[in-house]
Amino acid sequence: MAKKKTEELKKKLSYENKNGWKLKETSKDKVFDFAETYKDFLQTCKTERETVEYVKREFDKRKKKQDFFIINRGKNIALVRLGKKSGMKLVASHIDAPRIDIKQNPLFEETEIALFHTHYYGGIKKYQWFNIPLAIHGVVIKSNGEKVDINVGEKDNDPIFVIPDLLPHLSHKLVDDKKVKDAFEAEKMNLIVGSIPFDDEEKEAVKLQVLSILNETYGITEEDFISAELEIVPAMQPRDVGFDRGFIAAYGQDDRICAFCSKEAFFDAKKNSKTVVALMIDKEEIGSDGNTGAKSRFLMDIVIEILKAQNIDATLENVSEFLKNSEVLSADVNGAVNPMYKEVHEKDNASYINHGVVMTKFTGHGGKYMANDASAEFVGKIRKIFNDANVNWQTGELGKVDEGGGGTIAKYLASWNMEVIDCGPALISMHSPYEISSKTDLYETYKAYKAFFED
Ligand code: MN
Ligand code: MN
Repeated sequence: MAKKKTEELKKKLSYENKNGWKLKETSKDKVFDFAETYKDFLQTCKTERETVEYVKREFDKRKKKQDFFIINRGKNIALVRLGKKSGMKLVASHIDAPRIDIKQNPLFEETEIALFHTHYYGGIKKYQWFNIPLAIHGVVIKSNGEKVDINVGEKDNDPIFVIPDLLPHLSHKLVDDKKVKDAFEAEKMNLIVGSIPFDDEEKEAVKLQVLSILNETYGITEEDFISAELEIVPAMQPRDVGFDRGFIAAYGQDDRICAFCSKEAFFDAKKNSKTVVALMIDKEEIGSDGNTGAKSRFLMDIVIEILKAQNIDATLENVSEFLKNSEVLSADVNGAVNPMYKEVHEKDNASYINHGVVMTKFTGHGGKYMANDASAEFVGKIRKIFNDANVNWQTGELGKVDEGGGGTIAKYLASWNMEVIDCGPALISMHSPYEISSKTDLYETYKAYKAFFED
């Protein structure tokens, strides 16, 4: 009897976080079906521009009658549904991902091979990008101003591109004996784009052959690269991982997993008191600068459009009032514990894959530098919303206190005097060309954002 009482007391007083597969509220079939839609989204959306286009197409099919969207320069989109109360419920994700960009003067020939010079974008481990199948996505603006879309490497019969690594037999001095951060030079990350010489030409004939194919296919010339944004991304498709198919491996899940869940939650939300907004931002991976990053005034445009739609004058006073009453989930991923590298985490404050959506009170590094650090009141409010909606959630810091760290757009959004907390699933191998997520976490993230919108 005493033993039973102790057990009851322990259950009542202790905090325990559960593996999502052990919860019975949602059927496995439903979770797996949801994951299939997600995989399709990831395969189509490998750049910020492609994501905006995809979400816009879907909006046209799934919008409710008063809904509207705002697009900023083809790289940000905000889906808006008006509410009666002042302020908004904003779920803000980012749709750029670590990748390799090509330089503005990319094409050169060396030992009769044509290559592109590249410039990596965001925090990558360079070695992960050698000798994997790569695709080229993006736009070229021609001298007459015309825009050409390029997307090569995704279809089964497309060619792919490769950054060639050095064979192990000759790697000793140049690679193996160096520290990893010095062993792979950015200037050696060049992409093979051609190998056949142009007929009747002696000098740089392979380069000319590539230029000639590009001109035939896209009508572009060498100078047009200067006004191009061509992104090199993994050509691999999203795939299930493991005999049980519980995980998904795919490129760009940081942070398109949150973008996907936010749009699904937006379209499916059954009610709302405040205005709800699903916002997708660019440039997070390089510090949120630029006119499409979270530091741009695009957020202000959204607020002004909402106030206009509500017949409220967008005076400074009204805008400030609206922002003050706004609540934000900074929808971004966390780093899940990798079983082989547990030592970079402190186990009681780490996030675990399969254990639900992660609430991160603060990110940053060291003594909470560069952190938003959500208030206890707001954390309490979100926790209640999630508990009331039976969302499987956990809390987690990004690694041990002095291990490293990282940031999100939370602090930029909080600077507008809104309540902000980071909230998204935890990934294994974040920022790699093939990141790993969990199907149950994907579904719980969707449930979390939907509950937040419906509150
Ligand atoms: Mn992110
Ligand atoms: Mn990231």
